Amino acid sequence: MMTTTKSEELFARAVEKIPGGVNSPVRAFKSVGGNPVFIERGENAHFWDVDGNEYIDYVMSWGPLILGHAHHEVTLAIQEAASRGASYGAPTKIEVKMAELICSMVPSVEMVRMVNSGTEATMSAIRLARAYTKKKKIIKFEGCYHGHGDSFLIKAGSGALTLGVPSSPGVPDETAALTLNAVYNDLASVEKMIAENSGDIAAIIVEPVAANMGVVVPAEGFLKGLRDLATQHNVVLIFDEVLTGFRLSAGGAQERFGVRADLVTMGKVIGGGLPVGAYGGKREIMQLVAPSGPMYQAGTLSGNPLAMTAGFAALSILKRKPIIYEQLEAKAKFLAENFREAASDAGVAVQVNHIDSLITVFFTENPVLNYADAITSDTEKYGKFFHAMLNEGVYLPPAQFEAMFVSTAHTQKDLDKTVDAFKKAIQAVK
Ligand code: PLP
Repeated sequence: MMTTTKSEELFARAVEKIPGGVNSPVRAFKSVGGNPVFIERGENAHFWDVDGNEYIDYVMSWGPLILGHAHHEVTLAIQEAASRGASYGAPTKIEVKMAELICSMVPSVEMVRMVNSGTEATMSAIRLARAYTKKKKIIKFEGCYHGHGDSFLIKAGSGALTLGVPSSPGVPDETAALTLNAVYNDLASVEKMIAENSGDIAAIIVEPVAANMGVVVPAEGFLKGLRDLATQHNVVLIFDEVLTGFRLSAGGAQERFGVRADLVTMGKVIGGGLPVGAYGGKREIMQLVAPSGPMYQAGTLSGNPLAMTAGFAALSILKRKPIIYEQLEAKAKFLAENFREAASDAGVAVQVNHIDSLITVFFTENPVLNYADAITSDTEKYGKFFHAMLNEGVYLPPAQFEAMFVSTAHTQKDLDKTVDAFKKAIQAVK
């Protein structure tokens, strides 16, 4: 058994001064039981906690670290930028370069506005869609997570789902009434909603690959169907690519599936590990954003030079080396196939959903195509499995309804070790 004395001590101090001891709920291990380990440093695909335990990391800061921890090129870029000052609140060249790079990589993005988180990006994007269409309601999907903006915390995924409060207190009923929840992978549910709210829908916002109820892959024709419905009904189609952007491919889900959105929200990978979000899209819509247009949105630290430098370094590598995406897919496929085989050998019913570098092992017998399927998972079993993996030195998402993230830094040795750990851990849930 590993020793976690120092983590325990820190957690005891943390809960006194930070709600739940953490600055983002899912980190607290609430849904898997036990207390979190506190991390001291990371390198490549590994990180070490304050007690010196080493883990192969599949959380990767919840997605941003597609190149692994402390990637040398990104780290050097941040150090160099930091030596010239952390922030100016005035325009810089790196913001222009970053905007040009994003527009060159992400289909349909002709203009882009930088913000500081995925939440800010999605909140701004729906305000923009409302300003553009002069309509009020939005359609999202049950189990999809778009950050913690009021409009999205209604049947939301990720930590909201894990903690059993998918709809948060504190969101006014009047706001909640403007958000409609359709069923993921069910076009008919969207069509019905549009018909019932004729002329009122400003936007459809979707995770093009859902990953916040665990990984759920879009069914053939689902995204294209949303595109067609949005076009027919003068609705802004927003792809929330905070998680999928620069991860499924250099151009994200739009490139991967050949479907174009009107607006795209970005986060995670875009900041190279620093806090960055962005929203962008067609020039005609983006020109409504202040100061070129009347839709107000601003940020003291938006386009921060350190964050832009880190993001620019990371995105440049991804653009330069498209082979990365084939390698990521091969690694995750290796894990997914071995997980399926090992679970089957052990007689444990699981569904291993996998696409590109994203994987979720659901503890259920049902194929998982939407939220209703996902919540048939046995979260107690996941908790046992999680702790057994942690004991074997593999850090998985501390919640069932999340994705494992594979990075370029995971080596074959890491993958083999992970499969060996899985074979042992799966016994713990029998
Ligand atoms: N949208 C999606 C699809 C996400 O996965 C997340 C975060 O996990 C967000 C939005 C919110 O991003 P942030 O946590 O940076 O506010």
